[in-house]
Amino acid sequence: MRKSNPFQARHKCKRASFCDQRYLPWANHLEQYSRFYNQGYLIFARMNSTDVAKVRELLSQSNHIVIVPHKNPDGDAIGSTLGLHFFLKQLGKQSQVIVPNDYPKFLKWMPGNENILNFERQNSQALEHLRKADLIFTLDFNHLSRTGQLENCLEASDARFVMIDHHQQPSDYAVVTYSDVSMSSTCEMVFNFIEAFGEVESITQEIATCLYTGIMTDTGSFKYSSTTSRTHRVVAKLIDKGAQNMQIHQQVFDTNSPARLHLLGVALNNLVILEDYRTAFITLSQKELDQHNFNKGDTEGFVNYGLTLENIVFAVIFIENREEGIIKISFRSAGDFSVNEFARAHFNGGGHTNAAGGRSTDTLDKTVERFKNLLNDYQNQLLA
Ligand code: 5GP
Ligand code: MN
Repeated sequence: MRKSNPFQARHKCKRASFCDQRYLPWANHLEQYSRFYNQGYLIFARMNSTDVAKVRELLSQSNHIVIVPHKNPDGDAIGSTLGLHFFLKQLGKQSQVIVPNDYPKFLKWMPGNENILNFERQNSQALEHLRKADLIFTLDFNHLSRTGQLENCLEASDARFVMIDHHQQPSDYAVVTYSDVSMSSTCEMVFNFIEAFGEVESITQEIATCLYTGIMTDTGSFKYSSTTSRTHRVVAKLIDKGAQNMQIHQQVFDTNSPARLHLLGVALNNLVILEDYRTAFITLSQKELDQHNFNKGDTEGFVNYGLTLENIVFAVIFIENREEGIIKISFRSAGDFSVNEFARAHFNGGGHTNAAGGRSTDTLDKTVERFKNLLNDYQNQLLA
């Protein structure tokens, strides 16, 4: 039962507006649903034939397609953009993946990696594509500000946008927004997108490899609560289609440098446990990073060690970045404590209920001090 949006007329919204309530899986999503709905947003909790028809129409009208993930792209961001790129190729459509900035070496083995343009490093080439773009897919993020330096370009573009994403509170810039916060990963959503096109059987090994990688990384190797039986069915299909699960795991997780492991040693040594708040946090200063030859991605996953402690439900890592003049913060939680809300309220960030990021422009010490002072207000939630 599709409903048209009652606010559509008032907003004179050029966006297609559909949402199917049957597909909003849990009660807590209903609150979010109505919030978007009231603002005249379109969300697709699941792609159906009408949505597919709309995307097909957009594709047929487009000659220059660009695909963009968020800044500091992770496995899901790279996997979903490349997976979609190869799928569009199957449909006879060329596309260009443009990343806002660099990403870790452990993702650079993926098929199609060599054709990705880095907006920071290959600026003029990337700008040329963006200038010509008439259709832009934005993947694995919910707000254009998540693309860093690319934001202004995207804001100024005349292209039409399609968003595929699983983060909370998506903003309203796309003609088609396929947003589902219950999804394990954007890669799982790209699989659904392909399925909605009736094209699962035409998934190639390249597509399967890219999508498998993103689902694996965003689910913590299939262990987070967002991992459903459906996720496993999707992954099984991707293996059937040629994803080499063991090799992919090795490429991502077993390609450490000695310096990175030593940096992990420093991080674990710096771990502070605040039992009264069931919280553990790690700090890494720029000096410590420099002493260990820091490369992008080297601190990936460090924050999770806090949560491996018995009774700890809130884990945080503060990483100094002198070049950007910020402290980059990652938040993780187990259970109901929403790090998305916490990061939004206090550290200019956001993400998911159990995994979010943020930043501070104070010094490392001041940031940690401010963080510790905030915990008092959350003690009840953390001990619940
Ligand atoms: P990480 O801590 O690994 O950087 O990010 C954890 C999750 O939060 C990811 O899903 C990421 O996309 C999201 N995230 C990270 N930083 C930010 C931010 O500054 N704003 C928002 N809205 N989401 C973020
Ligand atoms: Mn993701």
